Amino acid sequence: MTDIYKQIAAKAKQYEQDTAEFLVSLIKTPSFSTKEKDVIEVIAKKMRAEGFDEVRIDGLGSIIGRVGNGPRKIAFDAHIDTVYPGDLKLWNFDPFDGHIKDDKIWGRGTVDQKGGMASMVYAAKIIKELNLNKDFTIYFTGTVMEEDCDGLCWQYIINEEKIKPEMVVITEPTNMNIYRGHRGRMEMIVEISGLSCHGSAPERGDNAIYKISRIALEIEKLNERLKADPFLGKGTVTVTQIFFSSPSQCAVPDKASIQLDRRLTFGENRESAVREVQEAAKIAGYPDAKVIVLRYEEKAYTGKVYPTDKYFPTWVVSTDSPWLKAAVTAYENTLGRKPVVDKWTFSTNAIAIAGMHSDIPCIGMGPGNEIYAHAPNEFCPIAHLSEAAAFYAALVAKLNGL
Ligand SMILES: [Zn+2]
Repeated sequence: MTDIYKQIAAKAKQYEQDTAEFLVSLIKTPSFSTKEKDVIEVIAKKMRAEGFDEVRIDGLGSIIGRVGNGPRKIAFDAHIDTVYPGDLKLWNFDPFDGHIKDDKIWGRGTVDQKGGMASMVYAAKIIKELNLNKDFTIYFTGTVMEEDCDGLCWQYIINEEKIKPEMVVITEPTNMNIYRGHRGRMEMIVEISGLSCHGSAPERGDNAIYKISRIALEIEKLNERLKADPFLGKGTVTVTQIFFSSPSQCAVPDKASIQLDRRLTFGENRESAVREVQEAAKIAGYPDAKVIVLRYEEKAYTGKVYPTDKYFPTWVVSTDSPWLKAAVTAYENTLGRKPVVDKWTFSTNAIAIAGMHSDIPCIGMGPGNEIYAHAPNEFCPIAHLSEAAAFYAALVAKLNGL
């Protein structure tokens, strides 16, 4: 470990308690998707206090803190919305009473993923104090609505705010591993029409529920045919909901549809996935079934509606990527051990960065273990916070040739 990396690790350790206390303040400020205004204000205040060069809030409500003004651009991202706590009886404490106990921080969002936000802010402080950056404009983004529609915030940042970094570090939980990809996903519905008639004489009609059921069974078979990728695993499809419309309880239904959750592995995309479902409907005997990719059009807390299709493309960064190599070296330099390089099971904002832009790779590294995401009694080890902050600062040092 050279001197500068030792200094980074020491600084991060020195700020560990402050990082944990900042995380506690984030947990105590609930921020469900589309309701993030209060927590954004807490982060803005903190970024200003820690000497960020610029702090602003974009049209969708995400916070963008900037450090440095070099010619090249990179970003670190944490989504700062969380899911709801679910059944409170499963929690041993109030999910929003963030607190530190047994060297862990407890509360909704510690892992997913306000811990990443807390570490990012202290990384920025270390970058400034140790003068680690000259080449880059570094954006630290606290983004909104991820739990509802992953990547929407980054579509906005890239397309509307016109910020196009060379690389983005996603700070979702990796249990301190380095991740280089995950499966994509999409939400579709398959719709079929029938002919309604009185339920006492069903032969006069054409029952849409029978038709959609046959299609549903073909979807089950389609799932078995989908291929696997050695790194990302298998693409999957499953029926998640069923809907119908009918003139009455005593009538043959005239419309029915199913909703599908499709997970996309390497090499699969929107076109191929829609085609396969269309094909499955044809095998069921209904080539006229309609396959529709769903839309997301909820209003952000700023009032902005920024609709998008619910297509979240797969991404993978190659093992040869210089960004990945820099990340591994920075990790070893400052944490003194080799990282496991792997992938996420779930989807992240990277779908709108590396997934939609093959020229913007993402690197994943964040505090906490993803198995506690969306679970009761969520917690993050305090040591992960300082190690993540050290890694983020070390990566910037490495990219600056230190
Ligand atoms: Zn998350």
